[in-house]
Amino acid sequence: MLTWQTILKLAKEGNHPAKKKVTKSEREWQALLPEDVFRITRLKGTERPFSSQACTVFTPGEYHCVCCNTLLFDANEKFDSRSGWPSFTQPAEVEAIAYLADHSHGMTRVEIVCNVCDAHLGHVFPDGPPSSGLRYCVNALSLVKNESE
Ligand SMILES: [Zn+2]
Repeated sequence: MLTWQTILKLAKEGNHPAKKKVTKSEREWQALLPEDVFRITRLKGTERPFSSQACTVFTPGEYHCVCCNTLLFDANEKFDSRSGWPSFTQPAEVEAIAYLADHSHGMTRVEIVCNVCDAHLGHVFPDGPPSSGLRYCVNALSLVKNESE
């Protein structure tokens, strides 16, 4: 299980290598993605809180990267953070997500991105529920859900 200490170390010293990489230019992503998805995932935007129904959906399934379809989170790790953004306590696989120190807006936070295509997902915070104590705060627009069969 990933802990806050491990995440700080990854953000500082470098992330797990991804199984593969998907690389496109900003122009190519812009042509592929809806405008709001492009703004969030490629320009590091943030959707308005409570803008998505996905915050309160807890049915089984898998959440994949909207840009490259990599599996990022399992619905088993989703919880109701009441923050207005979909929230998870762990990624589906340790190397699915990369962690970057983010010093924007006068704060020091840990940005989370898809480790395969570098899509901006959101941030991770050390105020989640047990046992990991992590809260992955993710823009709903950066995820697509595949319902379990
Ligand atoms: Zn991706």
